Amino acid sequence: MPNTLFDALFAPLATRDDDFLILPDGGTITGRAFLAMVARQAHALRAAGLGVGDRIAVQVAKSPEALAVYGAAVALGAIFLPLNTAYTAEEVDYFLGNATPRIFLCDGARRAALEGVAARHGAQVLTLNADGSGSLTEAAAGQGAEITPADRSPEDLAAFLYTSGTTGRSKGAMLTHRNLLSNAEVLVDLWRFTDQDVLLHALPIFHTHGLFVASNISLLTGGKMIFLPGFDLDTVLRLLPQANTMMGVPTFYTRLLDDPRFDRDLVGHFRLFISGSAPLLAETHQAFEARTGHRILERYGMTETNMNTSNPYDGDRRAGTVGFPLPGVELRVMKGDTELPQGDVGVIEVRGPNVFKGYWQMPEKTREELRPDGWFITGDLGRVDADGYVQIVGRAKDLVISGGFNIYPKEVELLLDEVPGVLESAVIGVPHPDFGEAVFAVLVAQKGAELSADAALAAIRDRLARFKQPKAAVVVAALPRNTMGKVQKNLLRDQYRDWFT
Ligand code: ATP
Ligand code: MG
Repeated sequence: MPNTLFDALFAPLATRDDDFLILPDGGTITGRAFLAMVARQAHALRAAGLGVGDRIAVQVAKSPEALAVYGAAVALGAIFLPLNTAYTAEEVDYFLGNATPRIFLCDGARRAALEGVAARHGAQVLTLNADGSGSLTEAAAGQGAEITPADRSPEDLAAFLYTSGTTGRSKGAMLTHRNLLSNAEVLVDLWRFTDQDVLLHALPIFHTHGLFVASNISLLTGGKMIFLPGFDLDTVLRLLPQANTMMGVPTFYTRLLDDPRFDRDLVGHFRLFISGSAPLLAETHQAFEARTGHRILERYGMTETNMNTSNPYDGDRRAGTVGFPLPGVELRVMKGDTELPQGDVGVIEVRGPNVFKGYWQMPEKTREELRPDGWFITGDLGRVDADGYVQIVGRAKDLVISGGFNIYPKEVELLLDEVPGVLESAVIGVPHPDFGEAVFAVLVAQKGAELSADAALAAIRDRLARFKQPKAAVVVAALPRNTMGKVQKNLLRDQYRDWFT
């Protein structure tokens, strides 16, 4: 029976006797062996009651077996729901309550802590440990190595992927087979992936970047992945010579650049470095090119849409931009319901086969962010430059409006970050009796530096219009970040809400 994603991504593994996954200890798993793992798990999960349209929530360490669960869920026509491994029992409680999965798969070591939570929401617990053992693997052992996938069409749901929770509570984005496959097909084409590619995979697989962008591309092309449990610098440096492509978040690239062993010789043979999930600083882009001769290709996406824009493969990869809308993806810049002229900053909206079906059990949120004609209001602020490159300026929720003027925090943060002694900064708006909102800066000092908040503000005074200058600043030990490493400005706004009132 046809199953859109299974047929495109997993079924072709049946004839692959070459390595699909290369592990850090030198072990390998052929395509055929991986597909057998998928099939055995699927039979075991079906025996445990998982059927078409059921949810399976998965909070386990990254491993080949964990990736196979994605394939098993697709084969059964179930909805795959991966969760960040850092989430606490209290957070897991929210996700299981929201998604009401039939099965919850967790690490055996956490079973005791999470069993009550799962039971409360009617989910049956199975385990999968970092080394691949666990009750799922035991149940899979005696099962058949082949599977006939459930009938699934392009419009059927394949996954609920929860947003990172940077601006508020995480929302479950409902993604269809077509959402995922259409995006993978476009990216394969644009980034020229083939069965000759070996992708160094150090990203987590509970997030769109590592799960869908990276893994779907490799599955679709018949390429190989060097599959690492996480980003360990020594391991990455050791294995880079065996890979020819890598996808990373900006911190992967800054961490590589901080190590003198990372040089031109190590990656001279490389075909492509891709960055996304958070803004790549232009200075990182430049330092990377100076060190290696490679220009990082930056792209822009999100949980709800997979990828939306990308810098070109052949053309100019411009630092500080996220490139052009992908083929098939429309992009516009809006103020409310009005489209803005080219060059103006506004809210980015996108439409295309990649755009999700709505937030699971959040009809209000869905109405607020997904227009009836298919345009998704991303909540990111940006502009399109004269050459068509998209630039992300920040998030609409983070925009500060002081005395009637718009202030984009990023502009102020970039200047503050240049002040000697400042490691990083976050600029927010807090209530102010005269101005409505006042610009407020939260600073983190460099290790060992003596940093005075007032001196830092004085240092940027001549470089910024008066209305953009922070009216106050504080120095803190660290900025609050969510588990994807993104700064949570909503928490800062709450903390400093009463500063001027
Ligand atoms: P939530 O929606 O729950 O607040 P989140 O938006 O951080 O969390 P994700 O879907 O993981 O959750 O992240 C998508 C966001 O990441 C985008 O909306 C954008 O703000 C940011 N982002 C992704 N890629 C880039 C990039 N290349 N440059 C700048 N920002 C990026
Ligand atoms: Mg978001």
